[in-house]
Amino acid sequence: MISQNKVFADLPVTIFEQMSQLARDNNAINLGQGFPDDPGPEDIRRAAADAVLNGYNQYPSMMGLPELRQAIAAHYKHWHKLDLDPMSEVMVTSGGTEALTSAILSVVEPGDEVICFQPVYDSYLPIIRQAGGIPRLVRLEPPHWRLSEEMLRQAFSPKTKAVLFNNPLNPAAVVYPREDLELLARFCQEFDAVAICDEVWEHVVFDGREHIPLITIPGMRDRTIKVGSAGKIFSLTGWKIGFVCAAPQLLRVAAKVHQFLTFTTAPNLQMAVAYGLGKSDDYFLDMRAELARSRDRLTAGLERLGFPVLKAQGTYFLTVDLSPLGLNETDEQFCRRIVHDYKVAAIPVSAFYEKDAVTSVVRFCFAKKDATLDTALERLSDAIHRR
Ligand code: PMP
Repeated sequence: MISQNKVFADLPVTIFEQMSQLARDNNAINLGQGFPDDPGPEDIRRAAADAVLNGYNQYPSMMGLPELRQAIAAHYKHWHKLDLDPMSEVMVTSGGTEALTSAILSVVEPGDEVICFQPVYDSYLPIIRQAGGIPRLVRLEPPHWRLSEEMLRQAFSPKTKAVLFNNPLNPAAVVYPREDLELLARFCQEFDAVAICDEVWEHVVFDGREHIPLITIPGMRDRTIKVGSAGKIFSLTGWKIGFVCAAPQLLRVAAKVHQFLTFTTAPNLQMAVAYGLGKSDDYFLDMRAELARSRDRLTAGLERLGFPVLKAQGTYFLTVDLSPLGLNETDEQFCRRIVHDYKVAAIPVSAFYEKDAVTSVVRFCFAKKDATLDTALERLSDAIHRR
């Protein structure tokens, strides 16, 4: 028997894969996985096509095309008054996933503790463990999923090397207010910890809410590694263009990791993202309004059916808390039942916990055409009454 790397060999098949497989097997509408079912902005796709035809097909520079790094810096200057030097503080990666992996591997050494908040995005823990780090899991709870002084006081210690923070938070669809960010910033400074901030959902915020990057909170500029993803900003999730923004000292080491993970990323898509990031505010505000409309459609429909919906503040997802319904089943049992009996797939939020899971919350993706959402709602009309 060949012995392999236990961190990865022992990983179970994720619930995302399981539910997507069940969705296929049952011919279900898949409101589990988070991708929109429209083709994405035509001008940006056209910019990519032009870049394929008119050059830009060889290895671009390791840090990313200068055009894109400048566009990222200009974009964050415009939206958040954040001053970044495109050459020493911005790097392009193959998606947010690679950006996060580069960030984690550049900071974490064996024995270091890394604070992660549950519900936790699935890529963080294996990479922390591969680096020899020890995840310190903090449990967030519905309906508000907010940070508290007590939970941070219990989690932070002199061994804390870094904290991984996802804002807006997938799957809970929370956009954290300044108060929580200042609290987290205070602890990072007290314990001299690096914040790796997964902000891939930064533009997908609703109802006039403002996304506040942790790096802009006083005291965090030189200790935050900010991660973004064009896939989420432009609803082109397959493109896998991510960004890392950090002070030169932090970025330098993240770049050393990146050079041996992927080295670089498709230049034609980079050109198109550079174009996209320069679009007028209206584009971003319209995108938010359109997604908020879909959120409202699914929220209203689910509420009509009797589901207690926790209203989404951002992301492509809303959540439903099953606990008041008295169904006597866990979120996972509920999801397995509805994909089988009603042909609609969703994701149990307990899948985002490694221990002490919240087991009553289910996540639905609303970034779908009206007709898809309406059909899903029709199918679910009887789902809160167990057959
Ligand atoms: N972080 C979070 C919280 C996400 O939801 C996702 C995408 N589902 C990613 C990172 C990965 O982003 P990308 O597809 O750009 O690798």
